[in-house]
Amino acid sequence: MTRADCVRAVLAEFQERRAQDERDLYARVAEAERLDPEIARLRAESRDLAFESVRQMMSLEDEAARRTCAERMRERGIANNREIRRRLKALGLPEDQLEMHYRCAACRDTGYVGDAPARFCDCFETEVRRLLHEDGSMAGIDAQCFERFDERVFPEEGGQRERMVRARKLCEDYANAFPGGKFQNLLLVGSVGQGKTFLLNCVYVRVVSRGFPAVRVTAFRMFEAMRRQHFANSMEEQSFAELIAAPLLLIDDLGTEPMMRNITVEYLFTLLNERAAARRHTVIATNLGPEQLKDRYGERVASRILDRGGGVALMLSGRDVRLL
Ligand SMILES: [Zn+2]
Repeated sequence: MTRADCVRAVLAEFQERRAQDERDLYARVAEAERLDPEIARLRAESRDLAFESVRQMMSLEDEAARRTCAERMRERGIANNREIRRRLKALGLPEDQLEMHYRCAACRDTGYVGDAPARFCDCFETEVRRLLHEDGSMAGIDAQCFERFDERVFPEEGGQRERMVRARKLCEDYANAFPGGKFQNLLLVGSVGQGKTFLLNCVYVRVVSRGFPAVRVTAFRMFEAMRRQHFANSMEEQSFAELIAAPLLLIDDLGTEPMMRNITVEYLFTLLNERAAARRHTVIATNLGPEQLKDRYGERVASRILDRGGGVALMLSGRDVRLL
């Protein structure tokens, strides 16, 4: 899927989202009016008031009389709304029962913000990126959140459970503080089944749900983007640029991607270097320890990954877990 395909798909999704927002609103209005028919009458009256005020204004010649009329209509409208809110409260319904509920307040689920030329909202870009890098590893990701973190799955022996609780706390603080916070980068090191992917997904879900754009890729997908970038003939290829530009990039399973001469190491260095220079946040999960990272990628890349200045490494593996 090219970026253009993804934009088209997400535009269609947003259109459906707005239609759903409206259907939800109609359902909430119908519910309130069914529970209290007086609400329906007040709403109809408010609508009539608007027409009535236009009609009256047009018939009045005198400016002072017009102003008095407008003021009277406005007060009736306010009184009407107050009465509707009072009745909603009496029914135990929320104050905004009869208003649109947008998933994104910034763009009101249109996907666009700003006046002409409008640009895509961050929430829209997040969806595009998610689709662009979608590879099946995102299925069920919303369930991988801090709220569902259960430390009891980790054994108490060797203090592993306690370390996971501390790792979770650190990751959650990191996700809550983004784009600020003490650390720019997070490195999660552990072998299979030690929760590194889960923690990485938790960070992703939390940051995105806070409304920030983030890109999560598997190392294999990242490699694909590098390879396409390397052999691309057109300027259309944007997925590697997307990885560089993402305000938060999460790379899962670093070390499992193919090692291709002139590509893997060079592009990984470019990616990490440019992100570090722009002070963008990066989270990496890997089962490679510091020495193995050096062996695989060389000193230059390893020192970027292990960057002790701006980052923190969480060693989740067995007894070896330690916080740098
Ligand atoms: Zn938005």
